[in-house]
Amino acid sequence: MNLPAEVDVLVVGFGAAGAAAAISAHDAGARVCVVEKTRAGGGNCVYSGGFLFDVDGPRAVDHLDALCFGKTDLAVLEAYARGLTDVPAFLASLGGSAPPVDEDAFGGMLPSWPHFPGAGHVRYRQFVPAPGERPGPGLWRTLEDGVRERGIPVALDTPVVDLVTGDEGGVRGAIVEHHGARTTIASRRGVILASGSFEADPELRDAYLPLPLTSVGHQGNTGDTIRLAQSAGASLWHMSAFFGWLSFVHPDFPAAFTLDVHAPSFIYVDGDGRRFADETGWEVHDRVRALTAYLPRRANRPQMPGWIIFDEAARRAGPLHGIVGSPNGYEWSPDNSAEVTAGWIKRGDDSGELAAATGLDAAILKDTLGGYAAAVSRRADNEFGRAPATLEPLLPPLYAIQMTPGVATASGGPRRDADARVLRRGGGAGGDPIPGLFAAGAAGSIWGHLTEHGGGLTDAIVFGRIAGERAAARAGHLATNATT
Ligand SMILES: Cc1cc2nc3c(=O)[nH]c(=O)nc-3n(C[C@H](O)[C@H](O)[C@H](O)COP(=O)(O)OP(=O)(O)OC[C@H]3O[C@@H](n4cnc5c(N)ncnc54)[C@H](O)[C@@H]3O)c2cc1C
Repeated sequence: MNLPAEVDVLVVGFGAAGAAAAISAHDAGARVCVVEKTRAGGGNCVYSGGFLFDVDGPRAVDHLDALCFGKTDLAVLEAYARGLTDVPAFLASLGGSAPPVDEDAFGGMLPSWPHFPGAGHVRYRQFVPAPGERPGPGLWRTLEDGVRERGIPVALDTPVVDLVTGDEGGVRGAIVEHHGARTTIASRRGVILASGSFEADPELRDAYLPLPLTSVGHQGNTGDTIRLAQSAGASLWHMSAFFGWLSFVHPDFPAAFTLDVHAPSFIYVDGDGRRFADETGWEVHDRVRALTAYLPRRANRPQMPGWIIFDEAARRAGPLHGIVGSPNGYEWSPDNSAEVTAGWIKRGDDSGELAAATGLDAAILKDTLGGYAAAVSRRADNEFGRAPATLEPLLPPLYAIQMTPGVATASGGPRRDADARVLRRGGGAGGDPIPGLFAAGAAGSIWGHLTEHGGGLTDAIVFGRIAGERAAARAGHLATNATT
């Protein structure tokens, strides 16, 4: 496609936030263009579970504030809570549907945080895909169709490399790389950063996140949002917040494989072979933090990497990888047998054989398995308090897969206000907005510490729509007096 020299609204990134922003800006009468760094749209939406979050009632903002540990301005949370109520109607207007789910069908995974204020008003929805499709790709197809049907131009393989600012410090466009050349696209009303966070950038992960983490999702989110926003003088927030997954790293694949065990007959052990956590007591987005818990009274060595040890029943219960998508393009076998054959999953007829296959200390592993068996028979895990109903025996043969902490999405990025305007550095929540610069979705997500099922996609849709509408409504300026 030929890039336009000037538009009303330039959307950076073609994931859920970029699509929602483009649709809303277009429907508000703006001339819009979307530029996407990679060869395809979708971002993390295509790997997602298509879960959507909803909370209403008088304590909705209290619930969000508690999850964010007070790190997100209340006006922003109020805008998010208001926007959540419109998400089903927005999806219906695009021909999609996301009804509330039956929480009992998700094996104890829902609700996420039942004891937080206002939790009684939390509902979860899941996008209904076409037959044979997964919910995340189904949601993306619906959003992408909404953009294409409106004739909004989308330039793939076209990263934004710099922002263009005017004399007053406002943002008036962006410089993109397109077919090997640098070109400026001027924006009369606004630039919307919908370009994700930094979880796929090793340097920024190392700088801001608390663990040695590997990304499990979209590999295009290498922190361009952070660098672009900072170059325009933006304040940053939530740089240490993320949600993760236990994951298996294989050097032949770009992303780590997320891991989930589908039967209770499993334990985690550290690099010595000792249990270190209540394996079934973590909220799914937060499970990875089990690897960071160190007890000074124990001789723990780092749990990174650790191992998930499971039995035949758990091996047959379902693929360890696959409840969400992955950019790796690898189809994990339904009963994990291919990965046993490939040696990704180690096998032993008893604890001694498993120790030899994994390199774990045989005496410690035997002791650990004996301790767990004793907890199972007395229906009480005195050491870690695992729920009695989940104390299932580990019956040989035994299996083990190495686990490291993975990051699905980082929350860090430019601080925004309730109108999705990016705020200037130095003023905190009270900082002035940078004229013409907006952010939505994972580009500085609202989630300040913990997150909810469906919190990422709804941030993208709610703030994408707010950013699109507000940018379209800005008074235009002549873009020709722009300087970089
Ligand atoms: C495995 C997995 C499962 C998940 N499941 C769920 C779920 O069920 N429910 C939920 O709510 N959330 C889920 N999430 C999180 C959710 O997918 C994200 O929060 C959401 O997709 C973010 O959308 P986004 O559009 O803001 O950003 P992204 O999807 O990250 O898209 C950003 C886009 O910007 C592009 N980009 C980056 N830099 C530039 C640049 N310089 N120029 C142009 N383009 C650029 C990127 O290539 C990318 O396409 C999941 C995430 C993962 C990884």
